[in-house]
Order: sequence, then C-alpha cells, then structure tokens
Amino acid sequence: MIHNPQMECMPREEMRKLQSERLIATVKKCYENVPFYKKKMDELGVKPEDIKSIDDISKLPFTTKYDLRDEYPFGLEAVPHTEVRRIHASSGTTGKPVVDTYTENDLRNWAEGVARVMAVADIGPGDTVQVSYGYGLFTGGLGAHDGAALRGAVQLPTSAGNTEKQIMLMQDFGSNALCCTPSYAMHLAEAIHESKVVSVNKMKLRAGFFGAEPWTDGMRKELEQKLHIKAYDIYGLTEMSGPGVGGECEYQDGTHLWEDMFYPEIINPDTLEPCAPGEFGELVFTSLTKEAMPILRYRTRDLTRLIYEPCRCGRTAVRMDRILGRSDDMMIIRGVNVFPSQIETCLTEFPAFQPYYFITVDRVNNEDTFDLDVELKPEFYTVELHEQIKYLKPLFDRIVSMVGIKPNIHIKPPYGIERSVGKAKHVLDKRDFTK
Ligand SMILES: [Zn+2]
Repeated sequence: MIHNPQMECMPREEMRKLQSERLIATVKKCYENVPFYKKKMDELGVKPEDIKSIDDISKLPFTTKYDLRDEYPFGLEAVPHTEVRRIHASSGTTGKPVVDTYTENDLRNWAEGVARVMAVADIGPGDTVQVSYGYGLFTGGLGAHDGAALRGAVQLPTSAGNTEKQIMLMQDFGSNALCCTPSYAMHLAEAIHESKVVSVNKMKLRAGFFGAEPWTDGMRKELEQKLHIKAYDIYGLTEMSGPGVGGECEYQDGTHLWEDMFYPEIINPDTLEPCAPGEFGELVFTSLTKEAMPILRYRTRDLTRLIYEPCRCGRTAVRMDRILGRSDDMMIIRGVNVFPSQIETCLTEFPAFQPYYFITVDRVNNEDTFDLDVELKPEFYTVELHEQIKYLKPLFDRIVSMVGIKPNIHIKPPYGIERSVGKAKHVLDKRDFTK
C-alpha cells in the first residue's frame, strides 16, 4: 500500500511547484540564520531573492562533509537550540562525527519517510518490526523505530549484535519485518540456518528493510531465499535525517526518493555541472522541509543516476538506480576504477561462494597488488588445492571480465572472514600515497 498517496503520487508539475516553494523558504531561512550559508552565498553573489524556483538550485553553493566537520557541532543550525528535540551523529572516518539535529517536525517528517518505505510491504498494526540496526547516535535504530511506530506496528528494539538471542526472539515473538544492514541480515540468515533451536520455517518474517550500505541484487536474492522474505532497499544518510530518504517499492526497480522532502540532483563530480537526465554521476541532496539543520546541495559522494520514467507502482516519486559505490569507496588499482560492490556482484553469481569478502590493496615494487579473500560455503569447502581451483577459476575469470584486472584470490576456511553487525568493512588499502 501507499502511505501518503498525495506526496508519493503527485503529478510532476505540481511537485515542481511544491519543491520551488519549499526551496525558496529553505534558502531564505539558511541565509538569515546560518552564517556559513550567508558567507557562501555572498561569495557567489547569490541573494535569497535570486532563487525563484527549483530551477535556480544550481546557483546555490554546495555543502560537503568537510563543511559539516568545520561547523561541528551546531554551526549549521537554523533555529534556536531551544527548539531542538534530538541529536544524532554518524561516526566520521576520522576526527569529529557528522551531527544532525531535529525539531519536533523534523522527527515527524523523518518517521514519515521511513513509514512510506514500510508501507510498501503493508506493515501496520499487528505486525512486529524487529529493529536490528544499532540504537544510539547512529540514525538506523531510532529511525526505523519511529517509522514502525508511525505505521502503528509493534516495535521490537533488539538493536544490533547478540545474534543468538536475536534469532530466538525473531521466532518466538513472530517478527514480520527485519530492519538492519544487508551484511548483518546475511549474518542473521546464516545463523538461522545453522541453528538447532530456530528454523526459518517457523518464522513469520515477510519483509526486510535493509540499508546504510550499498548492496547488490545478488545479495538481495540470497537474503530473500534464506529468510523467506521480500527484501527492500531503504536509503538514507545522516546529513538528510537518516534512513527513509527513499526506498524501493514492490517492483524493486530503483529506489523511490521522497522528493517533497529531499531534492535530488546528479552532478559531474569533476566539473560540478548538472548531468543530463539519466546520466550517472554524484548524487546531491537539498533538504526541503528540515527545520533544525537544513542542508543546501549536500554532496553525498554516492554515484548513481535518476530515473524519471513513471513506475508501475503508481508512485511518481523519482527513482534512484543502484548505487555503484561511494566515490570515496572507489579504489584505483593499476589505473582501473574498482568498486567493492562489483566484487560482491561477482561472488553472488556463484552458489559455492559466500557473499563475504575482504580486499587488500598494496604497492610492491611500484606495482599495485590486489588480494581478495573469499569464503566457500561450508558444504563446498575443501583444503585440497586442486579442488579449490575448480571454484576459483570461474570466479577469477568473472572478476577479470567485470573489473578488468586480475586479483590474487585466497580461499579462507568457513568463518575466516569477519562478520559485521553494522556496516561491513571490505577494504584495506595499505598503499602510502604520501611518498
Ligand atoms: Zn515504484
């Protein structure tokens, strides 16, 4: 079902009008209340009155994660701090975290975005939503929690970790939906299949809302088979509130973005010019309803494209294609662009392999090395090298054809690759670029 037909199915012309109104108000608010934006706009010679419609958005300055770090903690707040009701933060890779703050309305809108995604699987009263995202400063836990609450569902705040107990409760309490990172969902699925206490056949799961890291269709198929669910992508980022910036519909053909609240653009990350419709580039968001900490043209580093063709589900909200990767995650190995998600795609094409992997990149004698640890499923695992070759050769060929460079593949014993309860870490780049 559709949670908010008025917003999710609004005719495009009407949506442009709404976006224009909301952008004009947001820009005015930023200029008048946030010294950072006043300075940036003055530098570009742009005044709030120059923004007359959503088409003028390209006149506005960008915001980067470095700006958010510089303005830490509350420099970008556009309301008196007395109006703030909650603070979240994401762990930055280095130094200070990225902070987002929320007014009462911001929390309501955030829950609305998540609820729209959950409605796709008809989550409502009587359904139990198991939230296995970490609770805390991370937006995953409380974000999913509030979305489930708005749908009138039972919230089961198990948080991440304690896997044995998670799966016991999942069965005993009859959880109908699971929310967590796709890598933790995979870990839970594996634990269920190995358990002597619980069985997926005794469970009532029907939907999974997985996000906070990019994942592939291969991973989706595997999760759907193992957990007997339909698996939906839920997209979001702390800078735009958290999860629920968009989500997949029942057709799983792109992620609808709630563009009445978050205006998406695709830009060329090198020239910063807008891309042609349908072209791949960097995703940029402007918050259109955020009160406490509105952000203009935030550069997500996510590489994807937007699909404006109407969707079979009836929603008019623009769709985002799969995220190719984060431009930050992209590695350049021997001059070739490699995304970790490409490796995952290759692995999930071969039933003998687990979707877990770990890439180590180094530079030896001025040449890049590309080592890939993979894991065979226990039923395929063997220590015999000549037996391993049987599985390695097709995988090797597939990776070479997909990414264009040759990996050194190492088969690890079962559980030889670390399982994560939150976002998975897939890459260690040991190269020293300062030399
Ligand atoms: Zn759709």
